[in-house]
Amino acid sequence: MIETGEQLAGQRLAPGQVFSFACHPGLACFNTCCANKRLPVLPYDLLRLRRGLGLKSQEVLERHLELDLDPVSGWPVLRLKLDQEGRCPLVSPAGCAVYAHRPAACRTYPLARAVAPGPPVKEVFLRQEAPACLGWQEDRPLTVGDWVADQGLEPYQAANDALLGLFFHPRRRGRLEFQPAQIHAVILGLYNLDLFRSLAGQADFSPRFGFAPQRVQEALARDEDLLLLGRDWLERQLFAVGG
Ligand code: SF4
Ligand code: SF4
Repeated sequence: MIETGEQLAGQRLAPGQVFSFACHPGLACFNTCCANKRLPVLPYDLLRLRRGLGLKSQEVLERHLELDLDPVSGWPVLRLKLDQEGRCPLVSPAGCAVYAHRPAACRTYPLARAVAPGPPVKEVFLRQEAPACLGWQEDRPLTVGDWVADQGLEPYQAANDALLGLFFHPRRRGRLEFQPAQIHAVILGLYNLDLFRSLAGQADFSPRFGFAPQRVQEALARDEDLLLLGRDWLERQLFAVGG
């Protein structure tokens, strides 16, 4: 369940099924849902937050995120750190201060997406109805496909799905017990892109880890490709494959 890392509950929406929902500043509940949630920040979320905030990945990690371990899988999970009042640190009176680069969980809400690895990847969308969320009373018919397009979710889902093979790796048996060095490798390969770029830019990186020099050069020039390189580097670290 890569989108949340948690068990999901809610009413399943069939493909093409119509629901009615709208979220806008005119609602009395506006901004109230950006609080009291320990939202997961996935690798592509951090890539986009870093871009939107104009910060280094290390700065985003230190200022806005906290580390947790998923109780079921054992995987390290990063979550948005809440302020003392329990609010997301990125919420402003006018709404999300990083709206164009907000995480997938924020875009997907008030739905949730659960996935199973493929190929092809299987996905299920669920309604996450809460009485305080007045958007469900608005007259705006939508399908899941409309919502995904409206919220700009496609690149997030594609990037998250590209990591499924790592999270559900065939060499993984049950809950992983990560050692501190392995947690560091997860953060380095999937989240701290600036630091991983320094590693990948070293002259011996290609021969040492068995990556084609051209692939490494392309990854150094584009964050999205660097994340995929980080994924494959991490697979070598955790599961001793390739190289
Ligand atoms: S309508 Fe729902 S999602 Fe939108 S601000 Fe209100 S509580 Fe949040
Ligand atoms: S990142 Fe933006 S949309 Fe998401 S909880 Fe924070 S303020 Fe709300």
